[in-house]
Amino acid sequence: LMRNADTAMYHAKQMGRNNYQFFTQAMNDAAQERLLLENDLRHAVERGESTLHYQPQLDLKTGRIVGFEALVRWLHPQRGMVGPWQFIAGAEETGLIGQIGEWVLREACSQARAWHRAGHTELQVSVNCSAQQFQRESFVESVGGILRASGLPAQRLDLEITESIIIQHSEAVNARFQALDDMGVRISIDDFGTGYSSLSYLKRFAIHQLKIDQSFVRDISSDPDDAAIVSAIIAIAHSLGLQVVAEGLEAPEQLAFLRSLGCDVAQGYYFSKPVPAEEFARLLESWNPSARVVATA
Ligand code: C2E
Ligand code: MG
Ligand code: MG
Repeated sequence: LMRNADTAMYHAKQMGRNNYQFFTQAMNDAAQERLLLENDLRHAVERGESTLHYQPQLDLKTGRIVGFEALVRWLHPQRGMVGPWQFIAGAEETGLIGQIGEWVLREACSQARAWHRAGHTELQVSVNCSAQQFQRESFVESVGGILRASGLPAQRLDLEITESIIIQHSEAVNARFQALDDMGVRISIDDFGTGYSSLSYLKRFAIHQLKIDQSFVRDISSDPDDAAIVSAIIAIAHSLGLQVVAEGLEAPEQLAFLRSLGCDVAQGYYFSKPVPAEEFARLLESWNPSARVVATA
């Protein structure tokens, strides 16, 4: 009884506290499921069960692939492919995110370097970085070490962070931004517009790029509010000298609209889903810049 009451209490806390929840079997199953997944996660990295998929980012003026986002997947021996939504939160809670995040960074940088060697020297690599990872004392040093080992120029690495990291604005976080900037690494704000309402951080920190969340892009051509928000984000970014990336681009109308607003870069299923490395390499070789982007101009 006590254990079940405890589970219900945790559930209530998760719902934002200041509420009550009755225990249900489903809560137990969900907790059990998470625990199982967490146990497996401990071995995932050692056993080499994680893999990266790559999604191209396109320059909306030229239609060329200018970069890619590395997105982690977990090849679970029984469950098959597990997406980041299902395990990143657990990895943060258990502290395993440090190990996973470092693996992702190393793998993404060495893959980017390999594509640079193959002639695509302008490619930018974007790596998602969780708040926990960013808070680690050793974070900056670890990024530096990985860059040196891979031979990737720091300017080609983009770290995607969310606004939740910035809310903390401690001295340590400030220093970390500064150190990364000194190194030449670029910082992007992921899911921009969904987290934090104060914009003062945009001038306080060395930030290079805003990624407009896909929830705003989705209805951009039908919902005037979304259109207004996206247009305002692009205007703010440009007047601060930041680059803008639109996420979750799925339809030609969205593309046309974003281009008309002067959005710099876009990524989404309309161009390509995130794909394994071999497939991304084929995309790079066969990409026709004029086919998708310029045709909608
Ligand atoms: P995110 O960084 O905002 O990544 C974009 C997500 O949108 C990806 O989901 C991508 O597959 C999906 N997406 C891309 N284009 C489209 C589109 O046109 N339509 C729709 N509906 N979705 C699109 P994914 O790969 O499942 O990743 C989910 C989230 O997990 C990421 O959101 C990111 O926050 C996190 N994540 C992924 N990889 C890592 C990682 O290596 N480390 C950390 N800390 N987080 C990661
Ligand atoms: Mg991202
Ligand atoms: Mg995002």
